[in-house]
Amino acid sequence: MNELLKKSALELADMLADGQITSVELTQACLDRIDAIDDRVNAFITVDREGALATAADVDARRAAGQTLHRLAGVPIAVKDNVVTRGLRTTCASRILGDWEPPYDATVTTKIKEAGLPIVGKTNMDEFAMGSSTEHSAFGATKNPWDTERIPGGSGGGSAAAVAAYMVPLALGSDTGGSIRQPAFVTGTVGAKPTYGAVSRFGLVAMASSLDQIGPVTRTVADAAALTELIGGFDPNDSTSLNEPVPALTQAVESVAAQGSMKGLKVGVVKELSGEGYQKDVIDAFNATVEKLREAGAEIVEVSCPHLEYSLGAYYLIMPAEVSSNLARFDGMRYGIRVEPTEGPVTAERVMAATREAGFGDEVKRRIILGTHVLSAGYYDAYYGSAQKVRTLIQRDFDEVFSQVDVLVSPTAPETAFRFGEKTADPLAMYLYDVATIPANLAGIPGVNVPNAVSSEGLPIGFQVLAPARGDLVMYKVASLVEALSDDVAGQCPAANWEEK
Ligand code: GLN
Repeated sequence: MNELLKKSALELADMLADGQITSVELTQACLDRIDAIDDRVNAFITVDREGALATAADVDARRAAGQTLHRLAGVPIAVKDNVVTRGLRTTCASRILGDWEPPYDATVTTKIKEAGLPIVGKTNMDEFAMGSSTEHSAFGATKNPWDTERIPGGSGGGSAAAVAAYMVPLALGSDTGGSIRQPAFVTGTVGAKPTYGAVSRFGLVAMASSLDQIGPVTRTVADAAALTELIGGFDPNDSTSLNEPVPALTQAVESVAAQGSMKGLKVGVVKELSGEGYQKDVIDAFNATVEKLREAGAEIVEVSCPHLEYSLGAYYLIMPAEVSSNLARFDGMRYGIRVEPTEGPVTAERVMAATREAGFGDEVKRRIILGTHVLSAGYYDAYYGSAQKVRTLIQRDFDEVFSQVDVLVSPTAPETAFRFGEKTADPLAMYLYDVATIPANLAGIPGVNVPNAVSSEGLPIGFQVLAPARGDLVMYKVASLVEALSDDVAGQCPAANWEEK
């Protein structure tokens, strides 16, 4: 493997700025790596060799001409396949979109293009971001680069695996209930969900609009900060966008790395997110990191959020309700494939039904049915209405504890990467995998996974830091300290030593 690929995005950015390497050289190295190993990982649905190299050449030319460029200009990135990219196939890992080429760019795509980051391709995911293992993709599952018999997490398994296996230093994911943080946990990468509204959702194919948020997947906390700063900020095209300046996250991380002190910091350990049901190795790693934070000067307080117990229940009512409404647009009329009924009259309604029957996978259908049910007249109050009340109680729990502490911490997921097929037969077992990540989405607060250990089976483990809404800055500071106190997990991914074709 080309040694360049082991470097962080910011290190590569410095090398590009110094003229030690060119973006074409770096982008070609990423594309070569993808060609050499992606048949083993299946992280990409689409690779855009020409587009990526054209951007790289353009950035190199602009740099040579002495133009002032964005710090990350020329550093390659991969984009989850539910973020639209003009003229580049966007599938959401579903059959229903066929080879749809979006006629416009998502706001984050526009920002990436303006900053001059070559987009090497679109990454694999669970269909429409519904799942925890990337097994629900119409393009086949992505494999975990730590152990290809195991899941890379989901729904953003492709982005996480691409970064973990050194195919690309940066990737974008989307997190509705944990789809950035949980794949990061099982692949030993850093994955962050920003405060709801901090990054525009314009052009993110909606799953559950009140929960969805785009965020970074990287191998270092500083890279995640830099990418978030690049994609964040107010967007008039997103009605839920926060109208506030983007905090100086990268600078905060870089200065924290220099200082490295926890004095005065209050860290809450959430009782409900670290007890029963968590694997021993995961709990041991969590406790060890908490102990290191204490030794570094942080005050550790145990806190309780009593309503978190109901997060999963509330999420699996609110999310499908929004899914059923958002996915109504895939009807064979506007985008993607159109399937006609094999017999009987060809009416608009029957074409829609045949298209949706053929185009959607089982998990998507399950959620649409659940969502229409909980929104139906007779059940609305009992299910959807109650879930919204619970959501408010969870938000109040967080408000209450954040009046006592600066950040909350927990393991990011209850167990290390499981084997393919282990949870597909039982959707509830799969849903349970997100117990620790879902509360942040319900409350709109930011959360990040920082790899903190490798299990006795040789699988990565991660530590979650949660902060109050708009508290992304303090979250990044603490994440950076956790990273400094932990072994280099990402650097131990066995894919680094794979023989290349
Ligand atoms: N795994 C969760 C689900 O299946 C979260 C998905 C996500 O964040 N997109 O809904």
